[in-house]
Amino acid sequence: MTQVNPHGLHHVTAIATDPQSNVDFYTRALGLRLVKQTVNFDAPDTYHLYYGDEQGSPASLLTFFPWPDVPRGRQGAGMTTATAFSVPGSSLGWWHERFQKLGMDADQPVSRDEEDVLTFRDPDGMVIDLVASAGDQRSGWDGVADIPAEHAVRGLHAVTLSERQLDPSAAMLTELLGMSVTGEDGDRARFGMAGGSSGALVDVLPGVRDRGLQAGGTVHHVAFRAPDLTTMTTWQQELLGRGVAVTKILDRQYFKSIYFREPGGVLFEIATDAPGFSVDEPLLELGRHLKLPPWLEPNREQIAAALPQLQLDVDVP
Ligand code: ZN
Repeated sequence: MTQVNPHGLHHVTAIATDPQSNVDFYTRALGLRLVKQTVNFDAPDTYHLYYGDEQGSPASLLTFFPWPDVPRGRQGAGMTTATAFSVPGSSLGWWHERFQKLGMDADQPVSRDEEDVLTFRDPDGMVIDLVASAGDQRSGWDGVADIPAEHAVRGLHAVTLSERQLDPSAAMLTELLGMSVTGEDGDRARFGMAGGSSGALVDVLPGVRDRGLQAGGTVHHVAFRAPDLTTMTTWQQELLGRGVAVTKILDRQYFKSIYFREPGGVLFEIATDAPGFSVDEPLLELGRHLKLPPWLEPNREQIAAALPQLQLDVDVP
């Protein structure tokens, strides 16, 4: 049984440009599973692509809105400026060699804050870290022929928030989301939920002055897990009590969500674990077909016609 920290990250959602390059990169180069092919429920002329482990477990998920004409974004204060995945303790060398073979621009692995990290960029320039995490018991997706299961990406590890100031963001992470400081390195502070294992970590990098531009190759929002709707409602009431603007509970088909901004400006979401990605297609077929929520299904023909066709590697075992 895959062991998942019950109060960690749920997913990270980012902005891409070309959907086909995005699918090719995350499924082939990085070996994640495309677990859902749907549309942005708030703008159904755009795909919403979900990548994760076999089932699309919470804390394994990176999702994208591919907007083909969007300009390249710029990192800055009030943004999530790095997304880290965990890989087995001895796998970074293997991944570096793989990226070189694929002709990708990847840095040499380095030691940072007592972790070994391999940093690279996706086709839209988005910064992804692979972190060697020996204690991560999650199994990852082993459905890609040329990525041995022993090296497969395990799931999300951490996100880095770049902020002007540490304290206001730190207060929200600790007081509202129940995180505690698990490490400090220079100005950078690390916060962890429920003991702070891989998949439940947030790094805050303060002292970033300039605002960025949220566009292609940047993160749109970070979602945290709510074990159930009751917990999410409690968090929603708590936010309202603190005078934080928070949305109503939204039906995202695969989870229920609320959204709010942390004091530095990063958009946060809280998302329930249930019902998950098998709610509208069998586990074996996740991601192979365009799925729409019931309220968009009547417009399927129009919606599908407006989306670019995707080529998927569905024959990969
Ligand atoms: Zn989201």
